[in-house]
This record gives sequence, structure tokens and C-alpha cells, in this order.
Amino acid sequence: MSSIIIKSPREIELMRQAGRITAAARTVAREMVAPGVTTAQIDREVRHFIEKSGAIPTFLGYGGFPASVCLSVNDEVIHGIPGHRRLKEGDIVSVDVGATWKGYVGDCAGTYIAGEGSEEAKRLIAVTRQSFFEGIAQARAGNHVGDISHAVQTYVEKNGFGVVREYVGHGVGSEMHEAPEVPNYGPAGHGPKLVRNMTIAVEPMVTQGTWEVKVLKDGWTVKTLDGKLSAHYENTILITDGEPEILTYGEDL
Ligand code: MG
Repeated sequence: MSSIIIKSPREIELMRQAGRITAAARTVAREMVAPGVTTAQIDREVRHFIEKSGAIPTFLGYGGFPASVCLSVNDEVIHGIPGHRRLKEGDIVSVDVGATWKGYVGDCAGTYIAGEGSEEAKRLIAVTRQSFFEGIAQARAGNHVGDISHAVQTYVEKNGFGVVREYVGHGVGSEMHEAPEVPNYGPAGHGPKLVRNMTIAVEPMVTQGTWEVKVLKDGWTVKTLDGKLSAHYENTILITDGEPEILTYGEDL
């Protein structure tokens, strides 16, 4: 993998702007998640919002992906393709969205319930979100990537859920996927050292049952192998000497 890119103050400011647009796009999607809405409708509104903001939907055309947002429902983990699917009461929807602003990328995700939802779904979503914050509590200059990974895994497993191995967080900047990889599992103290002004996406993908996944025939959609629920939570963060700054900052943290 290519080497880690440390960002200049100018680049960080552009990433902050990209991040705010991306987080607001996540809110657009979150507010639409409800029984009766199709995933294509959500995609259309998110795309419209990003373009109206003067940014580019990063995912659209990325590796051939046909939409501006990944919408992964229930046992779908990531990379769900928006389409005719109509959300039903109690469905859980993982929204993953990216926006490029003046050449810099914001990347964030969150899982939301259509309607009321089960207690177990709510707990899965809450644990997934909190595992991100447990992870980034370790995300400061001088620590290692593995310190984030270990904190996420420990918290998730303590709560009886699984962390996906096959897909990981990543550096982010002028490219959506830069070095280093940021796994959600593994030993503390390992991996690349975190350095001030690195920007990374930390994104726990958490499963109710097995952490094993499969890719569907559409070539994109990743599902849990056992058909149980999965949730996702992600923000792009800036490494500092103290607490990290969340660049995809918005009302849905
Ligand atoms: Mg990401």
C-alpha cells in the first residue's frame, strides 16, 4: 500500500468543509429512513443535496458503483445498492456516504431504524456507535492504529456482538481510500504509528451473530453469512496531539 499522507493546514480546512457537507448528507438520509420509502428515493435526495452544496458524490461511479450513497438493509453490512426496495417497519438501514469538496473527501456512515424497531436492533446500533467512540479515544499522535482496532473489538465483543474482518477503515484525503488500513480488530500497540495531521476514517461494522460475510451476485452488496443483522458507524477524523477532531461533524454524531 502507498505511504501515509500527512495533510497541510490548507488540506485540513478543505477536509473539514468536505466533512460538514458529508455529515449533512448523512442527516438527509437519516431523516428519510421510514417505512414505505424506497432506497432509490433516499439516494436521489442525497445526491441532490451534495450537488446543491457544490460538492461531488464521491461514491457515484467509484469502481463502477451506480449510486451516491450505500444503503444496506438488515443483514446487509455495507455497499448495498439503492433501488426499488421499499423499507418496512423495523428495518435497519446503514447509510454510508461520501462527498468530495475542492478535491478532498469526507466519508461517514450511520445506521437508522425505519419506524420503531426491536430492542435488539436498537442495542446493536448503540453498541456500534459507541465502539467508534471507544476506538477514537485511542486515536492520538504517538499511539498505533492497533490501539484503535483493539478498543473497538474489545468493546463490541464485551457486548456480545462481532466485528467484520474483511472490510476495514482507511486513510482518507484527496482519495477516498488511502493508507493506512484501520481494522476494527487486532492487538493494541501494533500497526502504523498515528501522527499529527493524519486523516482517517474509523468505521466499525458490527454483526449480531457471526462476523463472517459474503458478497452477493451484484458484485457489491456485502451480507452477514448467517443472515443476522449488521450495523455500521463511521466518521472521518483528524489526528492531533490530544483528542481527535471529527471532520464529518454534524447533528447525527
Ligand atoms: Mg469508509
